[in-house]
Amino acid sequence: MANVLGKLLSLAAAGTMMISNSLLMAAPQNDVNGLLFLQNRQWRVSKYYEPETIKADVPGQLQDMRADAAAALEEMFAACKAETGVTLKAVSGYRSYQRQSTIYQNKLDRVGTREKADQYVARPGASEHQLGLAMDVGQKSDDVNLTSSFGRTKGGKWVAEHCWEYGFILRYQEDWVDVTGYEYEPWHVRYVGKENARLIQEADMPLETYLLLMREDTLLWILTGEEQE
Ligand SMILES: [Zn+2]
Repeated sequence: MANVLGKLLSLAAAGTMMISNSLLMAAPQNDVNGLLFLQNRQWRVSKYYEPETIKADVPGQLQDMRADAAAALEEMFAACKAETGVTLKAVSGYRSYQRQSTIYQNKLDRVGTREKADQYVARPGASEHQLGLAMDVGQKSDDVNLTSSFGRTKGGKWVAEHCWEYGFILRYQEDWVDVTGYEYEPWHVRYVGKENARLIQEADMPLETYLLLMREDTLLWILTGEEQE
């Protein structure tokens, strides 16, 4: 945590971070439709939550996402194509609680124990895909999709470097496994909106840590030097 605070202090000192009122007023866990809502192994979502989704107009399959995320995905894929020549594809977007439940059960049937199944698949209610804000991204031309090798491809590198410009964060990074509870997934992006993505990118920390600092007003205090009323 000391490192995180040190980094934030240096960012604040450099004046590179700005905070908007909307972000400060956000109470992510009070609003399941909010862009910063946290869904992970600890914070699970009920089987009754089903967001409204549309199909993103991109190559691939299972392209459903919430409308703002779908539009951002289209923009991001087009930019990657323009800048690198690589055609990205959707591998898996919105998944209902029920769908996640089926996937988990199938894995459990194959590996035998929950302990093993948990290493590969999120339990129902614990997958961010249920929010309609996550997408698993692949390259159209190859089959390294959903493996760590994707992170070494041209498309994978571009996504890691640029996704924040389109409102996405690379949610499960190598150094963050202990915090996120998920293995390195270079293919999994989460939509948080452009402004949030920029701030989280600059802070360079997992969403969990970022939200914790926000909730404790630590980030605000560090950035402005003022306590919140
Ligand atoms: Zn994913």
